[in-house]
Amino acid sequence: MNIHEYQAKELLAKFGIAVPAGHAALSVDEAVAAAKQLPGPLYVVKAQIHAGGRGKGKFKELGAEAKGGVRLAKSVEDVESNAREMLGNTLVTVQTGDVGKEVNRLYVTDGVDIAKEYYLSLLVDRATGRIAFVVSTEGGMDIEAVAHDTPEKITTFTVDPAGGFQPHHGRAVAFALKLKGSLNKQAQVLAKQLYDAFIATDCSMLEINPLVETDDGKLVVLDAKMSFDSNALYRHPDIEALRDTTEEDPAEVEASEYDLAYIKLDGNIGCMVNGAGLAMATMDIIKLNGAFPANFLDVGGGASREKVTAAFKIILKDPAVEGILVNIFGGIMKCDVIADGIVAAARDVNLQVPLVVRLEGTNVEQGKAILDNSGLAIVSADDLGDAARKIVAEVKKAA
Ligand code: ADP
Ligand code: MG
Repeated sequence: MNIHEYQAKELLAKFGIAVPAGHAALSVDEAVAAAKQLPGPLYVVKAQIHAGGRGKGKFKELGAEAKGGVRLAKSVEDVESNAREMLGNTLVTVQTGDVGKEVNRLYVTDGVDIAKEYYLSLLVDRATGRIAFVVSTEGGMDIEAVAHDTPEKITTFTVDPAGGFQPHHGRAVAFALKLKGSLNKQAQVLAKQLYDAFIATDCSMLEINPLVETDDGKLVVLDAKMSFDSNALYRHPDIEALRDTTEEDPAEVEASEYDLAYIKLDGNIGCMVNGAGLAMATMDIIKLNGAFPANFLDVGGGASREKVTAAFKIILKDPAVEGILVNIFGGIMKCDVIADGIVAAARDVNLQVPLVVRLEGTNVEQGKAILDNSGLAIVSADDLGDAARKIVAEVKKAA
């Protein structure tokens, strides 16, 4: 789960981390009120969307000359006019894709006099099973280009979970940032605070870009992005409350309401599978047959007829779907229950795309009979390879 920049900063401040003062705003009036609470005379109005690259982003509705999603304002009136221009419009950044994201929240924050911008992030490194620090002197808006063109300017190291954060980790961060004196000490303290925040909140990614050195020699977090391990959210109701579902894919939000593991992908073949491993294998075999999956969907071990129906509808909401492959191994789940769900859902949505079903396991004969007697044009398959070949052929035939 992701949260907004202002929420991440409020969270980090609780761990003693230095962030500029600021207030979130949902309307122009709130933005003005927020600015009036700040000392001024320099303000920054920042679009709050779950995507980076806002500074260099462009608003769809405004001309090419219009400013992006991070704007400097020199008076309260300036904050007001910028807020008016940004709210309700669509910001397109390198991370949003062409559709962009509608800006419904702003963050009005203190303008900081920046001497230098740095990069600092923590993430779960799956290769080592540890938390990794990623550090660079080249912070700001182009870290992806730095990683691509001059990877030697990025330092990475991991922390052994048994020992936890040690003073030498702090020194390694400060050294990688090439900081001296007080700034060096501040970086060591900050590294420990970030690590503590990361662990305490079950974070999966915490990115500070930029971390800045101010003209008066302070290290300040100027932008913050945090993602959390969804499986650990039950331990953090306060963080769960920060969820902004308007920023998420509507189909994924609906799926989570039914406790379905659904991830939208770019292909045209919808998949409904039970078990994450089988779902992965199903996507692989679709690709092996020259097509691409439209989604990952694991309906889980004990799915009910209602859940299967919901899953079916969610798959079909994606206009790119040109065919559906159902691949179910009935172990705990019974094939006849699945078949009932499929038939009910196909009738309900007046299914217009080809449907291939591969059932195996408990009550498979009853399940197949339900499909065969449904009067619907359901293609039955015998094994995984057969199913993939059939759905790819059916979609080609229909095109
Ligand atoms: P994004 O990464 O989405 O583009 P950032 O928050 O990193 O958004 O802002 C982009 C740039 O705008 C920063 O690299 C920094 O130069 C400038 N900036 C952001 N916030 C402030 C601020 N409070 N004061 C001064 N400059 C800022
Ligand atoms: Mg940034």
